Amino acid sequence: MNYSKKTINDFDPKGKKVLLRCDFNVPIDKKTGEITSNARVTAALPTITHLLKNGAAVIACSHLGKPKGEWKKELSLAPVAKMLSELLGQNVIFAEDIIGEDAKSKAKNLLPGELLLLENLRFDPREEKNDSSFAKELASLADVYVSDAFGTVHRAHASTAGVSEFLPAYAGLLVEKEVSILGRALDNPVRPFVSVLGGAKVSDKIGVINNLLQKADTIIIGGGMAYTFLKAEGIEIGKSLLEEDKIDYAKEMINKAQEKGVRLLVPIDNLCATEFSADSTPILIEGDIPSDMMGMDIGPKTIKLFSDALIGAGTIVWNGPMGVFEFANFAGGTMSLAKAVAESGATTIVGGGDSASAVEKSGFADKITHISTGGGASLEFLEGIDLPGIACLLDK
Ligand code: AMP
Repeated sequence: MNYSKKTINDFDPKGKKVLLRCDFNVPIDKKTGEITSNARVTAALPTITHLLKNGAAVIACSHLGKPKGEWKKELSLAPVAKMLSELLGQNVIFAEDIIGEDAKSKAKNLLPGELLLLENLRFDPREEKNDSSFAKELASLADVYVSDAFGTVHRAHASTAGVSEFLPAYAGLLVEKEVSILGRALDNPVRPFVSVLGGAKVSDKIGVINNLLQKADTIIIGGGMAYTFLKAEGIEIGKSLLEEDKIDYAKEMINKAQEKGVRLLVPIDNLCATEFSADSTPILIEGDIPSDMMGMDIGPKTIKLFSDALIGAGTIVWNGPMGVFEFANFAGGTMSLAKAVAESGATTIVGGGDSASAVEKSGFADKITHISTGGGASLEFLEGIDLPGIACLLDK
């Protein structure tokens, strides 16, 4: 994929109506309906401010939650309009629909420097189907399209890809940052390039492992997925997470790594428990795990092995926790790795989702070069496949 895309710095926004796809998929407290974090709205401000200051009329749009094509009051973007207005310090006009009468008339009358937010795109089933007539109507509101929703660039939806058929398409500052940092890590990393992979399942990371085996110098595998690799090496794993149908794949990867001279590291000791519970007492096991126990976190020797492998790295890409970090007793491996990554001196990139929240929890987030704003998107990016929401943007 070409990672060099035209951005909002490559056109003059003056007098233009800009359709801006944002990621306002904010977390909402199910009981109170309150927005619990303004991080995603804050992240969109640089692009919005650039466009408004330079004389554009901005028509922002986003999805929120999973309304599955139905109008659901609790998933309205109206509270986001209010939050955006407070953060921006200017009025945000809100449309009660997406491409209906209200949106059309408000978009038509929008003046340079003004901001309009459309209602939740996914209230219309045609959004996720990438329906061409829906994309065309959405595009008809504006002169230019800007994508700043990195979290959804792996989806081919009307607002993330379809609209680019009808409007010149540019990257916003957030998307530009993600694409350039992740793209450089894959295309031209400062070596040694070390990749740290964790999380629950091998099956979720197959594409990433395949791609990184071609690129990385060292691959570290921890978390639940490591146990399928240990099983493939003939080690007993007790009741640990196992994907039986991925054992052969793991064997193949171990062989491939050897052939390619890629160092592949797996845990050599584990903190185990008899029950999957926050209250379980951690039991340190080296080698075979007894049949009544499961691996919940990496042990101290593994922490040392993995941390040492990060020393001197030029680039580190980390996706997925090293253990069940949600349970304090089994968070140590992930937190220690966060520290080792942060102190490595390398260019460090942390994939979104669980790895991002683990790094935030560790207190080392500000020492990481880049924490991706997209969980699924950053994972698919690391697979090296074309992402529709990036491929559709104009090449430089
Ligand atoms: P993922 O979404 O694939 O990155 O997986 C993250 C989840 O993997 C987290 O909720 C962790 O609790 C879980 N996880 C990590 N290590 C283990 C393990 N050893 N056993 C079970 N679950 C794990």
